[in-house]
Amino acid sequence: MSNYYHAGLEDDVRHTVQEAFLGEKINIVVATNAFGMGINKPNVRFVIHYNMPSSLESYTQEAGRAGRDNEKSDCLLLFGPEDRGLQEYFINGNNPPYSLIEYAYQEICKAEGSVTEEGLLVLCKSQREANTMSLRSVASILQEHGYADMEYEGGSRIIYPLDRRKPLDIPKEMLEQKREIAFQKLAKIERYAQSKKCLRNFIQTYFGFSEVACNNCSFCFENKAPQISESSEEESDVRKIILDCVRTLPKHYGLYTVLGVLTGASYNNIFEKNLHRNPMYGALSSSPKDTVLAEISALIGEGLLIRSNDQYGVLSITKDGRKTLNQKQKKTLLPKKETHDTNKEKKPVKKKGEMDERVETGYNKTLMDELQTYRFRKAVEHKEYLQLILSDRTLKELAFYLPTTEDALLGIYGIGPSKAQRFGQDLLELVKKYAKSS
Ligand SMILES: [Zn+2]
Repeated sequence: MSNYYHAGLEDDVRHTVQEAFLGEKINIVVATNAFGMGINKPNVRFVIHYNMPSSLESYTQEAGRAGRDNEKSDCLLLFGPEDRGLQEYFINGNNPPYSLIEYAYQEICKAEGSVTEEGLLVLCKSQREANTMSLRSVASILQEHGYADMEYEGGSRIIYPLDRRKPLDIPKEMLEQKREIAFQKLAKIERYAQSKKCLRNFIQTYFGFSEVACNNCSFCFENKAPQISESSEEESDVRKIILDCVRTLPKHYGLYTVLGVLTGASYNNIFEKNLHRNPMYGALSSSPKDTVLAEISALIGEGLLIRSNDQYGVLSITKDGRKTLNQKQKKTLLPKKETHDTNKEKKPVKKKGEMDERVETGYNKTLMDELQTYRFRKAVEHKEYLQLILSDRTLKELAFYLPTTEDALLGIYGIGPSKAQRFGQDLLELVKKYAKSS
């Protein structure tokens, strides 16, 4: 038996549902977080969050309804990157901009008598951020600071000013700080939801407790061995491309713009911002969008990428992210001693980061065609995406530096020991064949 519960239900209906649950006449309730408040039922066995809550504080309080009798119980947090949007909406609604508070206060003071909630919405309709939720917050803020008071009349809230001549003087910084903290908390729970570490210890650390031997969360279950397993070279290629993209984009962009750039999407804003001309545009076009999105989320979870704490949620690379990128690229640098005399190879001048500009303009087109055909064959043979077999940049560097030894091959972007083992022989032969014929 099940039922549902939310704050919009009549009091007696809510009461009935609550009693039925406490008395075990029903055993499943689908509810908003309004339900948790009055519930002190020790044997709740399963709490499922369909959306990410606004903070770890809320989450632990809500999930903490499970297993109060110390018996084994489960908590499940379902999360999708779009959950952030809903929470952003709430944060913005609960923290109206100062300009809206000022405007609404002026209107309330100008009005004759008191103003209803609906009336206030009409008075403020020229303000972009005005909606029922944000104006309710405005009313509460004015009340809290002694500028207005509220009454309930026939089920509707009415607001009236306490002194129409009193100029508004609420400390702006305090309001801004509150908003900032809300966004910081959101960023934290978002990291939790995507964490690739022990979930219990994430919470322990957040609340200032020391770590425990958990073995009881989904991460610990899936990773019997305590450390995160090394990702395969293909996986780390995708991750590297994402990190490199976020690092080299001319500005910080939100998750979906970055996703659009990587997958070569034709969104309007990508063309407007000229991002389709970015070298990273379409770098992962052969990977499914969901896979790329999951990888971006994982990188956020691991702290290699970070989303800003404001309403824009733009992505940037963290110190650890840069370290990871550099570490991985170190492997692929051309060994220093390797160069000039016997070899006619050109030496890459840029050790890390962007591709040398000379490569883009100077790579050999004939060899590039050969390499692309080879990559296509391999992709079909291994049922893998083209970019994961060898990235465009790798092919261009091969067609520019023309490596003829295995050492030199390891100096090419994107070729590590495993790629060298899989394709090295073939690639060297292709280069040599081309060199002979030219
Ligand atoms: Zn754990």
